[in-house]
Amino acid sequence: MNLLKTMATVILAGGVALGASASAHAQDKGIIGIAMPEQTTLRWNSDGAELKSALEAKGYTVDLQYAGDDIPNQLAQIENMVTKGSKALIIAALDGTTLSAALEQAGAAGIKVIAYDRLIRDTENVDYYTTFDNFQVGVLQANSILKGLGYPENKGPFNIELFGGSPDDNNAFFFYDGAMSVLQPAIDAGDLVVKSGQTGMDKVGTLRWDGATAQARMDNLLSAFYSDGSHVDAVLAPNDGVARGILSSLKGIGYGSGGLDYPIISGQDAEIPSIKAIIAGEQYSTVYKDTRELARVTADLVDSVLSGSEPEGLDTTTYENGVKVVPSLLLTPYEVDASNYKELVVDSGYISEADLQ
Ligand code: BGC
Repeated sequence: MNLLKTMATVILAGGVALGASASAHAQDKGIIGIAMPEQTTLRWNSDGAELKSALEAKGYTVDLQYAGDDIPNQLAQIENMVTKGSKALIIAALDGTTLSAALEQAGAAGIKVIAYDRLIRDTENVDYYTTFDNFQVGVLQANSILKGLGYPENKGPFNIELFGGSPDDNNAFFFYDGAMSVLQPAIDAGDLVVKSGQTGMDKVGTLRWDGATAQARMDNLLSAFYSDGSHVDAVLAPNDGVARGILSSLKGIGYGSGGLDYPIISGQDAEIPSIKAIIAGEQYSTVYKDTRELARVTADLVDSVLSGSEPEGLDTTTYENGVKVVPSLLLTPYEVDASNYKELVVDSGYISEADLQ
């Protein structure tokens, strides 16, 4: 037994040493710039860290920058990455439309540009897009709301309010359109009632995906349309940060106590505080996107493109950016609620049981 253990240790140690020297030899594959939007939405921290370690393991030097939700700051970071001679840029854009000139320079310098999670619109100079099926995210959110309401067995009518993501994030429109593809028929049938009458991304968008902005809008909706004592039965929230802003507003006027039930509230990202809120019965659901997987496939794609091979399995029809169809890699999102969070996000190691204590 002891001998076996010792042998295993030796073999493992040998493996580590080999791995280390292999990557030491490969340390000259060039710089990859990674431009991430912000660190308040928890996922971007792990996206950045996962991308960095996957690319470093392949022998690249990584320049990882966070823009702190500041559009000019992100532009300056990307310009700097171009100047420094990056081989590829992986960009989760704050506002893709502001990047055109910098991406033109990147294109002229032969730098490969990958739009990460968020499509960059209206430019020729984006080579690939790696993301989740964003329309499907919205479909999952809406189906989850209907499931939480017990619809169609339970016909309602139910009062619902709608929130969208940031209007300068192309994803926000896919999420909203996906959700409305499911909700609109029930609204048309009179089973769901948007009491405020506020629909459409121009009215329901949440700039910068900011929870406090969502909280303020929910405060206004509650005082303008629900002070007659009517109950909010459901809220379409595009992600977990927005969902928690909405929850704060609802708690402020007594939802969750004294027989006033929380509405069915959706979300996205499977953030730890929202999984806790799901366990506590405050938020109904979220959408789990395995960002570790997105980082891994993106690092593989960058490596194969820079090694001169053609990446496989790309979708070449869905994501038109206004100038061209951008070849895309689409991963699958999953609905998560109190019944399956353990199996999907804990057993997969995305969140540890300890994080939920
Ligand atoms: C991402 C979401 C995220 C949101 C806010 C979107 O583009 O797809 O996962 O919640 O941005 O950061």
